[in-house]
Amino acid sequence: MKLSKLASDIAESPTFALNEEARLLRERGEAVINLGIGEPKNKTPIAAILASGAKLTSGEVKYTPPDGLPSMKKAVIRYTEENYDRLVAPENVIITNGAKQSLFNIFYSVLNPQDEVIVIAPYWVSYPEMIKMCLAVPVVVTPEDGTFTPRFEDIARAVTSSTRAIIVNSPNNPSGAVYPPELIEKITEMCERKGIFMICDDIYHKLTFDGNVAPPAYSFTKREVESSRVIVVNGVAKLYGMTGFRIGWVVAPRALVKVMTNVTAQTTSCVSPIAQAAAEGALNGLQSVVEALRLQIQNNRDVVLQEMKTFAGARLIKPQGTFYALPDLRAFNGNSVELSKLLLKKALVVTVPGREFGMEGHIRISFAGSVKDITEGIARIKWVLDPTSPNDIYIGDKKLTRDWM
Ligand code: PMP
Repeated sequence: MKLSKLASDIAESPTFALNEEARLLRERGEAVINLGIGEPKNKTPIAAILASGAKLTSGEVKYTPPDGLPSMKKAVIRYTEENYDRLVAPENVIITNGAKQSLFNIFYSVLNPQDEVIVIAPYWVSYPEMIKMCLAVPVVVTPEDGTFTPRFEDIARAVTSSTRAIIVNSPNNPSGAVYPPELIEKITEMCERKGIFMICDDIYHKLTFDGNVAPPAYSFTKREVESSRVIVVNGVAKLYGMTGFRIGWVVAPRALVKVMTNVTAQTTSCVSPIAQAAAEGALNGLQSVVEALRLQIQNNRDVVLQEMKTFAGARLIKPQGTFYALPDLRAFNGNSVELSKLLLKKALVVTVPGREFGMEGHIRISFAGSVKDITEGIARIKWVLDPTSPNDIYIGDKKLTRDWM
């Protein structure tokens, strides 16, 4: 069958593929632990349930404007004022089907074929694929070995006359790194000076630990949103653990929002009003749910650190945010795909190979789930790789003995 080369070249999403594999194994009754997907276990905040329930029972479930319901935009405007100290107009905001659509729509609306986008490794898997879908070129900047924070000089050196944008994701998926304020300041200053779009994927911006904060790029520019090159992406998936509602948004100059609105209108039309009502409910509801989730995730992070302490050979940089840890397992195998496969085969633990994030030799562990899964999952990983860990382990009701070392 002859299919589009452009579409066929797009890689499968490894996290969704692994999630499906875990689901199928679990369906067969296997005691799988999924440390693959980044999805908190919390229930939807009650304010979101009530608001979307009210919308549904009204029976008024119709098309909405392609850039979002005015009331939802209002909630985003207030969020932007409270969290970014910027007063923006409704014309600066577009609501999308998840932050994922925000990002694709931005890339599609700012890139011409062959334009370059700077992507900092380790990066979220979808950035390079989305950029390629727009016929543009991802240019990866990798931090010094053993670190997850790039040097500004390396970023500046990657800029060419074809650079249209840089994507910055701090707190970072998959490393949990929070970039220092000076780095954000320098990138912002360079982008404003050179006219490069700075796409800030702020989806984890409130999920930071130990008093760390991820300062918004807006705090380092005096320009109005209208003349600034800063573009902010956010959403409810990680903020409220509302992954299934598929609501994201963008704050950007009007001209860009207008183009993005046309792209939406001609492709997905709009976002479901039920999902928008839910997001609006969450944004306007009690914000203590965000802090409760953050505290729970920080506690999970501490459990990861505790469990990893006794993992001889693994190197872990302490995650300062998000719900991911990216241990360096090169002491065992430099091939992360082989490592992840081995962990699934021997110990039924789902992890994501670091290669997918541009960080070979590492694996990503999500600690968004339960403490039990984290503790047991890491114990199983140690059992597979670390000869100093106990020789026997229970996986489900089966007692297994390590016989390959
Ligand atoms: N950006 C990053 C860095 C992410 O980790 C994710 C979700 N895994 C997204 C964007 C997409 O979020 P959403 O579910 O709202 O599409």
